[in-house]
Amino acid sequence: MNNIRIAKNFKLKEFQCPCCKRVMIDSKLLEGLVLLRIMLNRPIYITSGYRCNKENERVKGYKTSYHMVGMAADIKVKDISIRDLADIAQDIGFKGIGEYKKHLHLDIREILYRWVD
Ligand SMILES: [Zn+2]
Ligand SMILES: [Zn+2]
Repeated sequence: MNNIRIAKNFKLKEFQCPCCKRVMIDSKLLEGLVLLRIMLNRPIYITSGYRCNKENERVKGYKTSYHMVGMAADIKVKDISIRDLADIAQDIGFKGIGEYKKHLHLDIREILYRWVD
């Protein structure tokens, strides 16, 4: 299920909700991640993509999380700090950027907002 290549280095299943396998992804989010993948020239591991209501509650996400509309992804990349990754993501145009201990949250909101958990 969802084992479909949606870009050179991404499959749809990487973005699916872990509980129900449903998935939604905005093309702008995918384009940003593809660009980031090219800039980094190394794999991007998606730790959280789309979330249904239940999953968002389980992980205690914001009630209006961008994850619930396919506009956000949490990522991890080997051998690069979360801060450096955040700066690169901002350079290529991501607007929602949240630094967490073990992942970087990226979303495609309209106005720049950066935070550190
Ligand atoms: Zn689910
Ligand atoms: Zn997130």
